[in-house]
Amino acid sequence: MTRLWGVRPRWRTDVLGDFFCPGCGGDRNYRRQHGRRWLRLLGTPLLPLGPVLGSVQCTSCHGRYGVESLEAPTCVRLTGMLRDAQYTIALAVLAAGGTGSAAVRGEACEVIRAAGFEDCGEAQVLAALAALSGRGDGEPFDVHGVGGGLAIELHAALEPLAPHLSQQGRERLLLQGAWIALADGRYLPQERATLTAVGGRLRLGEEAVGRLLEAATRTPH
Ligand SMILES: [Zn+2]
Repeated sequence: MTRLWGVRPRWRTDVLGDFFCPGCGGDRNYRRQHGRRWLRLLGTPLLPLGPVLGSVQCTSCHGRYGVESLEAPTCVRLTGMLRDAQYTIALAVLAAGGTGSAAVRGEACEVIRAAGFEDCGEAQVLAALAALSGRGDGEPFDVHGVGGGLAIELHAALEPLAPHLSQQGRERLLLQGAWIALADGRYLPQERATLTAVGGRLRLGEEAVGRLLEAATRTPH
């Protein structure tokens, strides 16, 4: 039933896009809108009142959310970020330990393929490693094996991802890296240093990183 008098906003759409809808819980289309409150008589806008805060409307559930809801990555984007993180960690561990061990190379390639780069073979991984190790300013950040290029890649891949993963998800990424390093039986000092840097980027505390790296040596993989 339409009330005689009422105040309701009138919305105008600024932008359309994809987002993760917090209401219906999936990747959806949204309209980003701004609006103005109107005094209405029998539903008809009569008199403009003040502006209302911009909001985002899901085109599926029609729920309205604050513009901060656009900061959460979509499922598609999160999957891509996770895949890139696994790839970059595998390269960093490989760079730190050297590519001399066939077992380490094999484990790194397996992680990369399982992450979603199904066609990625050892030759591609080694070529990517050579390209990355030679890039940047050549300064190791806090790890002797990881040159500037890989340090930049690690930062770029892990920093935006970390806030969106659970503790368990972040620990899992570190463990995958640890298992690559352990494929030839033990951690080299540079591998341990690289994994510690990875743990830091993943916002795992120093103590948690130490505990996880020890746990990985006891977990058969
Ligand atoms: Zn929705």
